[in-house]
Amino acid sequence: MRVIKTIKEMQSIAKGHKKEGLTIGFVPTMGFLHEGHLTLVREAKKICNVVVVSIFVNPLQFGPKEDFAKYPRDFERDSAMLQKEGVEYIFHPDGEEMYGKGYQTYVEVTEVTKNLCGASRPGHFKGVTTVVSKLFNAVMPDYAFFGEKDYQQLATIKRMVADLNMDINVIGVPIVREADGLAMSSRNTYLSEEERKSALCLYRAINLAKELINNGERSAEKILSEVVNLISNTALTRIDYVKLCDPETLDYIETGLLKGKTLLALAVFVGNTRLIDNAILEV
Ligand code: AMP
Repeated sequence: MRVIKTIKEMQSIAKGHKKEGLTIGFVPTMGFLHEGHLTLVREAKKICNVVVVSIFVNPLQFGPKEDFAKYPRDFERDSAMLQKEGVEYIFHPDGEEMYGKGYQTYVEVTEVTKNLCGASRPGHFKGVTTVVSKLFNAVMPDYAFFGEKDYQQLATIKRMVADLNMDINVIGVPIVREADGLAMSSRNTYLSEEERKSALCLYRAINLAKELINNGERSAEKILSEVVNLISNTALTRIDYVKLCDPETLDYIETGLLKGKTLLALAVFVGNTRLIDNAILEV
């Protein structure tokens, strides 16, 4: 496994592998890896000849009051984990390499980013699509792997790749959870013991919504109010959003009866830590 720090070197390696007729699989991450990330890596290993994992905490996707400075970082631990998975390259540029002097170009997807995290975190997805475009240009992947945990991010990347004619297959990977159901996240490390218990309310809320549907409930308002109640009655929580959405457009569904597939998307502060989770509800 090699650690690559410059875009030029990453591109020259990618071009070399393309000449050899090898496919490149790419897993972009912000590091502090867990089983969720490793599941993406294993999917990439299954279908690609060469796997590149990037580790870059992207300042552009954090708001001024968000956790960029304190975001957990442990490169040594991450590289040991990736070595064990048989990853060929870690792409690990610094901020200067990615956004050097005079930087002024941004990529923006306008519609699917409007709701949910796009509404709560202005500029977040512009930061994501910009960095992912730059990483794609450095790594030149044939396949790129993203978690369904960040459902709106996956939808946004798919839109960007289609709209900008990027020749990349975007693969979504199901959410990986802890044994008790909490969606894995690098940010779970912020949680105190008490908060960790409260954090389970996101998964419980998803199960409640599924159970309501299974018992014949179809009313969007009723499902939303039950989910909101469950979360607000959990200690240490503050709801950022609880939404039902069209899984393609991410338009909100606030009233009426659910039919077909509906996305339930949650963002909840547990203490000071903002957690997200989601599930597709099927009628
Ligand atoms: P991050 O390092 O948080 O930016 O995440 C890097 C990639 O891993 C993104 O595509 C995430 O959606 C994905 N990911 C993070 N947590 C999980 C999880 N629990 N299950 C599946 N994918 C995940």
